[in-house]
Amino acid sequence: QPAAEAIERLVRDIPDFPQPGIVFKDITPLLADPDGFGAVVDGLAAAGRGPAGEVVVDKVVGMEARGFILAAPVALALGVGFVPVRKAGKLPGEIHSVSYELEYGEAVLELHRDGVAPGDRVLVVDDVLATGGTARATRELVERCGATVAAMTVLIELTFLPGRSAIGDLPFTALAQV
Ligand code: IMP
Repeated sequence: QPAAEAIERLVRDIPDFPQPGIVFKDITPLLADPDGFGAVVDGLAAAGRGPAGEVVVDKVVGMEARGFILAAPVALALGVGFVPVRKAGKLPGEIHSVSYELEYGEAVLELHRDGVAPGDRVLVVDDVLATGGTARATRELVERCGATVAAMTVLIELTFLPGRSAIGDLPFTALAQV
């Protein structure tokens, strides 16, 4: 369990960030530790492999911004391409766009229409699953391209929130749960 141990040791809780009452999981100490960072990249990449270690996905998708930091090395570890899901207005090409509810207001995520191809099997990687809104919007973007989310994986699942039910029936793994 090197990944779970690294998360336990190197992710710190920041109370009342970004708002009073929220305990923020800060992954920056983990990223700064090369052994810990390597362990979690290996742990996340396992979600893109079959039983004999074979790679079973065609692309890795990561969400702005912390998802990028994890998904890009996971893509390289698997030998497949990395594709970014970005906040509104950042991608220069033709896009699909999905808006979703936040606690206060709404947010928009976007994906290049040619970022994933019809029939692609996609691994989605992010740092934290909270309400699941980001993950569900990302799933919808991938499906609008005619591709499927083969698996979703995160460092930390906040089990006191209904994220897992929000994402539907996807294969989902978390390296740690709190
Ligand atoms: P959700 O959409 O509510 O599931 O929130 C997940 C998104 O918010 C992810 O992209 C995370 O990067 C971010 N997030 C939510 N809570 C935390 C946290 O405690 N630490 C770091 N990121 C968080």
